[in-house]
Amino acid sequence: VSVSTERPFKRYGHYIGGEWRRAATEETFESVNPATGEAWYQAAQGGDADVDRAVRAARAAFEGVWSEHTPLQRGKLLRNLGDLIAEVGDDLAIVETRDNGKLIREMRGQMRSLPEWFYYFSGAADKIHGETIPTPTREILNYTLREPVGVVGAITPWNSPLLLTALKLAPALAAGNTIVIKPSEHASASILELMPLVERAGFPPGVVNAITGDGRTGHALAAHPGVDKVAFTGGTETGRRVGVAAMEHLAPITLELGGKSPQLVFSDADLDAATFGIIAGVFAAAGQTCVAGSRALVQHSVYEEVIDRVAERTERIRIGDPLEDDTELGPLAFKEHRERVAAHVAVAESEGGRLVLGGKQPPGLDQGWFYEPTIFADLSPRMSLFRNEVFGPVLGVLPFKDEDEAVEIANDTRYGLAAGIWTQNLPRAHRVAAKLRAGTVWINTYRTLAPSSPFGGFGDSGIGKENGLEVLREYTRLKSVWVNTSSAPPGDPFVLR
Ligand code: NAD
Repeated sequence: VSVSTERPFKRYGHYIGGEWRRAATEETFESVNPATGEAWYQAAQGGDADVDRAVRAARAAFEGVWSEHTPLQRGKLLRNLGDLIAEVGDDLAIVETRDNGKLIREMRGQMRSLPEWFYYFSGAADKIHGETIPTPTREILNYTLREPVGVVGAITPWNSPLLLTALKLAPALAAGNTIVIKPSEHASASILELMPLVERAGFPPGVVNAITGDGRTGHALAAHPGVDKVAFTGGTETGRRVGVAAMEHLAPITLELGGKSPQLVFSDADLDAATFGIIAGVFAAAGQTCVAGSRALVQHSVYEEVIDRVAERTERIRIGDPLEDDTELGPLAFKEHRERVAAHVAVAESEGGRLVLGGKQPPGLDQGWFYEPTIFADLSPRMSLFRNEVFGPVLGVLPFKDEDEAVEIANDTRYGLAAGIWTQNLPRAHRVAAKLRAGTVWINTYRTLAPSSPFGGFGDSGIGKENGLEVLREYTRLKSVWVNTSSAPPGDPFVLR
């Protein structure tokens, strides 16, 4: 197997029913490498006709060839796909770094763990089942069947294209669904490069389809009445629109949305570890991660010390070409995104945040969309930087006096995706974890993820869960079957049994 990482400039089509197809309108768009500002491939701009064709292909496969596969057979194909991804993971990492500018070291790491998602759900495929349920009537047998929902429409963002797709693809296929994937227009290449691997793994045509395009394509997919389930990862406002479109035809939804995640540093914390965790939380991936720990809440007595420590390490962050192994901060994913990040910083300055570091484009890196890691101290909960997701390398720090106040400030947000706690006091760690309103809480660690552990936000951070056996509920529906086991003659037809 191979993955295309090099020039020449490639022209991708949609992948529908096992074939590459141009857009019905012949429309295309180009994707730009954010480290160089140069277009490096062209993809098809999907319209209603392309979405319809892909959904029909997925429906035909669902009702036909895919329904003939046993759960064990589905599991084997998922294992094959995991093996193939493991073979070409380093090449897929290069494709993603070219597409979204994230560090090659991070994308390589993600690609190494990516097969685990396919292995985990490969093993789960034949462990999806209903139950036998006791009823008040002895002769009546009642059991449930857990069935696939049908055609899944998956819409994903640009920040970790393959990983965030795998979170949907692996469980959806394990449960017996077919899927149409719509990756982000800013980073579609790795999803398209995955399609030949899907084919090689042995998935029949139509089981996995990929259509490219911008928000219009995503909307057409979410709104398509032939889509039985919509799984979305992206921004909160887009998620709301996707949810409304899916509700028009009553398709269930999973929404993995944005966050404004707090990191709570207590005075009894290991400050080396906490400093490491704050930097890992907000400057890794240039802050372009949904779980960015973008609010650091620090207890008064260690407040200035933590700011100094974080600033000292941040100043030494190596900014540059994300394809270089020793680079620690690459560019932002696209030009408009950098403009958005700069606008957030300007508002923070105008609202009186104390700029400790950064707040501008780094000198000497004029070609790509780079932005310096930025720290604001003395944030107040009224400020925009406290409330709104930046999705860039911008940290806001603010002090708290005690545990109650820390929890109150942490929970003062419409989001609820993740939170970090730094303390060496064990009872406090668990006490605070229970009080935080967040779908994921990390204690003395940050940004860990596994296929076996449920992930998903509260409030404006989303609906439903990904990962873990829990996610299989999202990709199945439950049927209740009643059986009369009595051979006695039927009783009174006018009485409910
Ligand atoms: P986005 O919402 O702009 O786009 C996400 C996807 O939705 C893209 O494929 C886009 O083309 C599509 N889209 C846009 N408008 C649409 C519409 N009206 N209908 C249907 N689809 C539409 O998000 P983004 O900028 O690509 O990603 C960044 C956001 O994603 C951040 O807010 C981040 O927090 C969030 N995110 C969340 C998670 C999570 O698991 N919770 C993970 C990663 C990113």
